[in-house]
Amino acid sequence: MDGEGRREKRGKKLRWIIGAVLVALVVVVTFRVGSAPQISIEPALPGIGRRTPVAVVFEESSRGLGRIQVELVQGQLSQVVAEEEYRPRAAWKFWGPRIAHAELELEIGSDTVDGIEPGEATVRASAWPAPTWLRRPDPVVQELSLPVRLIPPALEVVSMQNYVARGGAGVVVYRVGESAVRDGVEIEANWFPGYPLPGGDSGERFSLYGVPFDLENGDEIRLIAEDDVLNRSSRSFVERFFAKGYKTDNIQITDQFMEKVVPAILEQTPGIKSRDSLLESYLEINGELRRQNTETLTALGESSRREFLWDRPFFTMPNAQVMSAFADRRTYVYEGEPVDQQDHLGFDLASVRRAEVPAANRGIVVLARYLGIYGNAVVIDHGYGLMSLYGHLSSLEVSEGQTVERGQTVGRTGETGLAGGDHLHFTMLVRGESVTPVEWWDAKWIRDRFAAKLGESFPFKP
Ligand SMILES: [Zn+2]
Repeated sequence: MDGEGRREKRGKKLRWIIGAVLVALVVVVTFRVGSAPQISIEPALPGIGRRTPVAVVFEESSRGLGRIQVELVQGQLSQVVAEEEYRPRAAWKFWGPRIAHAELELEIGSDTVDGIEPGEATVRASAWPAPTWLRRPDPVVQELSLPVRLIPPALEVVSMQNYVARGGAGVVVYRVGESAVRDGVEIEANWFPGYPLPGGDSGERFSLYGVPFDLENGDEIRLIAEDDVLNRSSRSFVERFFAKGYKTDNIQITDQFMEKVVPAILEQTPGIKSRDSLLESYLEINGELRRQNTETLTALGESSRREFLWDRPFFTMPNAQVMSAFADRRTYVYEGEPVDQQDHLGFDLASVRRAEVPAANRGIVVLARYLGIYGNAVVIDHGYGLMSLYGHLSSLEVSEGQTVERGQTVGRTGETGLAGGDHLHFTMLVRGESVTPVEWWDAKWIRDRFAAKLGESFPFKP
């Protein structure tokens, strides 16, 4: 065979190869649609209420996602709640950018979709595989049926004469409908859950709440009942709100005082680091550590026992002088300059040095250890979120888990923590919110404002 014949044969082969590649390409661009996308629908709640968060996830990793859509279908009515269009990879491309994963975070409910009715509704998610010029595949459709509930739980206030004071406590008895899964009293960011009324009918409940000492308005104290899809009933129920003013006070802080308290507190509190100056360390303790201690007390409040552990008025330290009453707004002054402001939410009681500190009432010790600004401290749980706190003790005479009787010595006064001299810092707490002990020391207040509302459920012995 001569050279020309060989070239001709090679040319023929090449034409065949090019032809085959072209045919393959035509087949690919004509028939290579994207794979079927995967879809998942994840509601955050067991049904649709006012606004139920629903996450819809789409995946397709061959040519990537094209068009996706979410509808809410109810009977004949279908409404598009979300829609996206992406550009899939061209049919002939096996590389390059594409959207393989998309997640739509939706809120579906009567607040966001018009005309939605109680009953059932279907969330329908559709995703179209990437098409070719000839083939347009049907979408992949995933559906999820959910109940639609729009009526909030029934809620009726039973207690009358709901009179409360700033920095005081209150109890309210009420009745909730069966659909309620969460009920109680809400005051700004504070939550005081409801409990079944001992001996009451089903649906009869009560909540013990503490009013922040600087709350502006009694209407912000609200009784709440929510169902499992967050339909919410809300009532303001306080008829009289005593908005006593709080005192303001200047506290002089000296280097001598800081040298006494700062190193001792830092030593006992590994979470708080020493700062460049004594004053900065002091401010960290008075601000950040105070905040952390409040968090600890709130967490303790949440684990309070669901029973009344007491039945008599609260007890105060005998022969004690009140050095500071509840709710002072203190400005801290250093070398003539205001450097900080904090609220003093407790009573400072002084008697002799190392005086015996009696338990204010019967309860269970839930904290008996060093607690930041309070130094050596004892917290007694009296049940249903009500606790008493004893701070700055020189010694502890009880341990955690122990049941104490009213008047039993829990420790001795001292000056541990943020204390200038030997005294007891005493306060009552409702789920970690400090409230004035004056109410709890007063048998008449307990009878009229607390026991009378609870009736037979609380056998008070004044
Ligand atoms: Zn104090």
